[in-house]
Amino acid sequence: MSDSKRTIGEAELRDRVRALLAQAHPDAVDRVTFRRAQYDHGLAWVHFPEGYGGLGLSPGMQSIVDDEIALHARTIYWNLAINAIGIGMGAPTVMTYAAEHYKQQLLPRIFTGEDIWCQLFSEPSAGSDVAGLATRAVRDGDDWIVNGQKVWASIAHKSSWAMLLARTDPNKPKHDGLSYFLLDMKSPGVDVRPLYQITGDAEFNEVFLNDVRIPGDRILGKEGMGWRVAITTLMNERVALGGSSRPGHGLSEKLLNLWREEGPSGPRGADGRSAAEIAVLRDAVVRLHIESELLGITNQRTKSAMRAGNPGPEGSVAKLVQAELNKKITELGLELIGSDALVYETGYPLRRGEDFPARTRRENAKHDFLRARANSIEGGTSEVMRNILAERMLGLPGEPRVDKDVAWKDIPRG
Ligand SMILES: Cc1cc2nc3c(=O)[nH]c(=O)nc-3n(C[C@H](O)[C@H](O)[C@H](O)COP(=O)(O)OP(=O)(O)OC[C@H]3O[C@@H](n4cnc5c(N)ncnc54)[C@H](O)[C@@H]3O)c2cc1C
Repeated sequence: MSDSKRTIGEAELRDRVRALLAQAHPDAVDRVTFRRAQYDHGLAWVHFPEGYGGLGLSPGMQSIVDDEIALHARTIYWNLAINAIGIGMGAPTVMTYAAEHYKQQLLPRIFTGEDIWCQLFSEPSAGSDVAGLATRAVRDGDDWIVNGQKVWASIAHKSSWAMLLARTDPNKPKHDGLSYFLLDMKSPGVDVRPLYQITGDAEFNEVFLNDVRIPGDRILGKEGMGWRVAITTLMNERVALGGSSRPGHGLSEKLLNLWREEGPSGPRGADGRSAAEIAVLRDAVVRLHIESELLGITNQRTKSAMRAGNPGPEGSVAKLVQAELNKKITELGLELIGSDALVYETGYPLRRGEDFPARTRRENAKHDFLRARANSIEGGTSEVMRNILAERMLGLPGEPRVDKDVAWKDIPRG
């Protein structure tokens, strides 16, 4: 715990934000200049230590920084939009396990969005059971040579760096033979190919690694410690995917806007619905709005309770609730639209996720419904979240794990 953690309260934190804005204002300078200044002032992620973009405060205090910036600026930068994986998962993993020179090199550029990051964990036969993965890293002098195939790698096509999990010792049980690497995505032998989702977008990719050379100092933690490092990434991922804790910015905002436009008092009127049907729909909208606000408050409470450092299994609560709630909200969105929901935009184009055309609220609602199907899969499925909550929070008996002590190379594979 740093001294600043004991002494900085809300008023002083707000003063520090105003000092930042006096030096670099987001309405006046470009994104990289502003975000670099925010990092240097320790206001990037206040729960990180001083000198690394933070002040050693509790994670919940970041909302004070965001609030003070929003009070004084029209230009607001969202971490999720700038570098979701880098900021949500890469930064805490680098902070916890990387060598000092990598922390200094990588952390500011993650925050400014100069370096986009991706996560190369999942493989065709290792998703929920990611510890069973087969990508091999073999020592060659001081370096490592990596061969294998990764899949579902979000934004790998735009990324400069990847968090790569690979097997360095097949003779050990599956969790013990893994190592965690920082991979420069421009390395020769990295082949990124698009995968199209149900929405028609290719947000994610399969990534082939063909004799990719990685310098030895790019192992995070130590050789064989990959699973422990991966847990840090995954726990942070669940908090990041658990959604916003800002009241009024909950999941249901889009639904409420849709109701205003498509509901009985909107420009399209009741669309042939009876008064009773409208009452049922209104009731459903209000119920989901309340659930969404409750999720925001739960997230706020979790963040306030968390001390500086990496989150534990509590992030799985928000991840599970967010995924299931967003599905219900987007389903109701389609009910509001009525039969037009059956027609999907302009001919189901295959394109990259970032090439979104301008869409109407109706078109967005259809897209959101399809995209929400992935919420209960990405970052760990809802079934796996329930397992984590059962075992690690409720203390229920664990699942049978028959391959836990078997050398990975001896585990039967289909
Ligand atoms: C939009 C999206 C983005 C993604 N981005 C990334 C990324 O950037 N990087 C990355 O590495 N991966 C990424 N993934 C992959 C994601 O992490 C995996 O899809 C997920 O972990 C599930 O693995 P799987 O697809 O192999 O399914 P499987 O593990 O094969 O699961 C199949 C089914 O079995 C169930 N199941 C499996 N094990 C259990 C169990 N023990 N108990 C109960 N039920 C179980 C699952 O819940 C699921 O319903 C992404 C996925 C999506 C959809």
